[in-house]
Amino acid sequence: MRNCSWFILLLLLQACQSSNEQSSASDVATDSTMQIADSTVSTDLIWHFESEFEPEFKDTLKLWVNTVKEACFETLGDYPFTMNIFFHKSDSRQKEGVTFGHTDRAPSTRGLHLYVIDQSSYESLISDWIAPHEMSHLAIRPVGRNNKWFAEGFATYLSRRIMIRLGYYSEAEFEEMYATKIAATKPFYEVDYSFSDRSAELFEEYRYSTVYWAGAGFFYWADKELQKNSNMRFEELLQEYQIVGRNQDTNFAQLIKSWDEIAGYKLFDQLMVEYRNGSSREIMNRF
Ligand SMILES: [Zn+2]
Repeated sequence: MRNCSWFILLLLLQACQSSNEQSSASDVATDSTMQIADSTVSTDLIWHFESEFEPEFKDTLKLWVNTVKEACFETLGDYPFTMNIFFHKSDSRQKEGVTFGHTDRAPSTRGLHLYVIDQSSYESLISDWIAPHEMSHLAIRPVGRNNKWFAEGFATYLSRRIMIRLGYYSEAEFEEMYATKIAATKPFYEVDYSFSDRSAELFEEYRYSTVYWAGAGFFYWADKELQKNSNMRFEELLQEYQIVGRNQDTNFAQLIKSWDEIAGYKLFDQLMVEYRNGSSREIMNRF
């Protein structure tokens, strides 16, 4: 009996070792690129280590982004494409965690670039908003420079929805945080011209956080309207959108049309008219 347990233990150890060896061999053979097949989702992640990292830390990085991806797909639906994940060693003085991130929209390299402090703890990575934010951006096609407030508001709103799934906020905390953040942006939008024009000005003044949170208001509001009028959450709309529109839409107008079709009425078309032409003060007084 004792011998039998040892034999099973030995078999298990070998299995772990061989899979580790396989991943390091693959890292070398494909220029630091490895594909992980995940039977629970339709999309693969392709790993790119752009800096030297210890094998153990590479596993931490993969676990982190896989966990974010799962929460992201549960929230926004399974993306109908492969994501490339590029890891860079950050030279920031920050002690640990994620220091910067951006998306890559080129079809052959579509995905995320994440800059991390070497040997960061898993906890410092998973509790950060940057990866959920960047991954959220990819749920929709690029929306153009004039709609930057829309893109950033979208990612800001959804990154925190993903973090609810990860267990970092409750719904009540989300509501409370949102009320605080939006209240802080209101004084910046006390003008009679459009929200869209005012946001462009604030970007020029480097008031990014202000526009990000004020822009998130668009989606917060849309979510409330959808619940009232279509018995649907915005997240549910997006899950449907990944299937019927994400790979088909070629411009911003089509994106809005696709969303309205799923909503069953012209919610997003109407909101865009208000955000582009209405008074910014009036829009912000809703909150
Ligand atoms: Zn962003």
